Amino acid sequence: MQTNHDDSKAKAEVVVLATGGTIAGTAGSATRADYTSGRVTVDAMIAAVPQIREIARVRGEQLANVGSQDITFAIMIALANRINNLLAEKHNHGVVVTHGTDTMEETAHFLNLTVASRKPVVMTGAMRPATAISADGPLNLYNAVAVAADPQAAERGVLVVMNDRIHGAHSLTKSNTTSVETFISPVNGLIGTVNYGRSEYFRRPFRRHTFNSEFSLDGVSVLPRVDIVHACADMPPDLIDASVERGARGIVIAGDGNGNMNAATIERAARAAAGGVLIVRSSRVPTGNVGRNVEIDDDRLGFVASDELNPVKARILLMLALLKKRSLEEIQRLFYEY
Ligand code: ASP
Repeated sequence: MQTNHDDSKAKAEVVVLATGGTIAGTAGSATRADYTSGRVTVDAMIAAVPQIREIARVRGEQLANVGSQDITFAIMIALANRINNLLAEKHNHGVVVTHGTDTMEETAHFLNLTVASRKPVVMTGAMRPATAISADGPLNLYNAVAVAADPQAAERGVLVVMNDRIHGAHSLTKSNTTSVETFISPVNGLIGTVNYGRSEYFRRPFRRHTFNSEFSLDGVSVLPRVDIVHACADMPPDLIDASVERGARGIVIAGDGNGNMNAATIERAARAAAGGVLIVRSSRVPTGNVGRNVEIDDDRLGFVASDELNPVKARILLMLALLKKRSLEEIQRLFYEY
């Protein structure tokens, strides 16, 4: 069903929380590939798209101004807490978060697990800096605000609006280093589309998120260390030992194929698991599930299978899971439910 914006009704209130990224980036000229992220302020970004005022009452807050390669868990926690507070206020209808695209899927997944509201939370960014020819940021911001103002976007978890597509936080991933059509949702498909502010929704996310998530950041200011070890042919197994020695409480293996790793690495990972380090097998392959006990005997070795989550999202779920003592079975359940 398509949504039109009805001018006869009071406009929704949407808060834009800015964190930086290419959407706030500037270059030396409109055609240069080199640029610096996180230069334009939230007020300037909103002022550059005056048409936004026709679809919502918008105000901005600057939470950070960094390239998303420099996003920290401190920023993610501050963002989640701010969104929870804003959306608890009755007059706010939705929130838009502007963010770099490099780690957008990580912040989206983190917020999907830690924002408790049913109201729309929409992330957006850009692949071209604000100063570029055909910059994609202004229309992405316009569309993101339109989705955040739309009651139909509620209860669908954290959404990412880029290039006319509405992605769910669980399934989206960045697929191209430079193209404006960089985000794909290879596992579950799109939530919908949005064209000049008119949205069409196809489905709701299947997994638990936001208002029915069991995770909370109450009293949390740091998260346990979880490392990612990337598998490859003839991989050196001592990368696992290095992580354990550095104090990792969990290790996600970006495994070959269906979460595989060579025999030497399996042996070190099993030793780490026996010592209490949580080992999650994910995959370096961009799509498909990682199943339990396929080529590796998870039951015997004490490993967890990531199911649908790619390594960076598996890491975030595991960090949140490790905030409290849980059995291996319970952690496996989390990977099936979120
Ligand atoms: N490096 C940039 C960032 O993630 C890329 C982008 O925003 O597209 O902030």
